[in-house]
Amino acid sequence: MIVVMEDVATEEQIALVMGGLVRLNYQVHCSRGSNCTLLGAVGEYSGGGDELRTMGGVKEIVYISSTYKLASRHFRPQGTKINVRGVVIGGSEAVVMAGPCAVESLDQINRIAESVSSSGARVLRGGAFKPRSSPYSFQGLGEIGLRYLRQAADRYGLLVVSEIMEPCQIPLFMSQVDILQVGARNMQNFNLLRELGRIGKPVLLKRGLSATLEETLLAAEYIMSGGNHEVILCERGIRTFDTASRSTLDLSAIPALKSLSHLPVIVDPSHATGKPDRAMIMAQAAVAAGADGILIEVHDQPGAALCDGAQAVLPGEFDKLMARLRLIAMAVDRSIAEPFYSRNHSIGSPRQLEIVAA
Ligand code: PEP
Ligand code: MN
Repeated sequence: MIVVMEDVATEEQIALVMGGLVRLNYQVHCSRGSNCTLLGAVGEYSGGGDELRTMGGVKEIVYISSTYKLASRHFRPQGTKINVRGVVIGGSEAVVMAGPCAVESLDQINRIAESVSSSGARVLRGGAFKPRSSPYSFQGLGEIGLRYLRQAADRYGLLVVSEIMEPCQIPLFMSQVDILQVGARNMQNFNLLRELGRIGKPVLLKRGLSATLEETLLAAEYIMSGGNHEVILCERGIRTFDTASRSTLDLSAIPALKSLSHLPVIVDPSHATGKPDRAMIMAQAAVAAGADGILIEVHDQPGAALCDGAQAVLPGEFDKLMARLRLIAMAVDRSIAEPFYSRNHSIGSPRQLEIVAA
């Protein structure tokens, strides 16, 4: 249940109600809005609603019928904005995350980081630990790959998102990554989700290949019930009877998730479609449909890519896509960032600085 406090409720009243909920064996999560505080009480229903209703500062008690509670829209009706080192996900800007499927070398990730940054991406993606269908495929560079990704992102003013596969990797990810990605194959790896609930960094949670929206929100609930409320949901296509595209992109998941939940929703059109031209079209559709961001694969040498080259967008095409996304975003009252070096005139790109220094 959710206890909605009056907008004039004092800190003392809030603390007393929280204490009451704890005594009733609920786990309490506090959500502070600009004009009222909501207390989410999760755990097995053990009654007590009537006594709470009479406590000072309590406005109303709302019983949530959905199986997920903290992820439910009721818990934060105003929506969640996640501020990742100054980049806000879930706000007015649709945040673009771009980069190769996998980090292959320092040179490769530097080249791609420079180009996606110069087109306006905010976050550099790249897998260092890859969940591959075949054990014989490239599995990623591991720790060194993550370090290359961090270096390249720092050099070109980008944040880092990368996929984590096991709880034991958390300390490494905490030091190198800004957003921890849980891949589609791990959406129901409950041990991993629980551990990610204890960390203080945002988690990008991909929808499982055959997961319903309810299962996706319950996976988010695993993370949130541990105390980490910074979860970004990602629609990346699901398996259907149709084999014409790599997956079937469920664009209707965007408005559906947004009405069911307060969490930001982004779209990965690359894994959904498996082809660069389709990915670019669906990226536009996703922004038009209200996505809070895009996660898209970009590679400057797709023919030589060690992973998912067939769906990678070329940097020049990505640049054109960004220009189109800016127009579409404007039509739906959103924005897309300008290129990094035009946002930071005084800095000059590392390459420009090297040229000046030479
Ligand atoms: C990825 O983003 O590289 C990836 C493996 O995605 P997914 O988990 O959606 O298949
Ligand atoms: Mn990929």
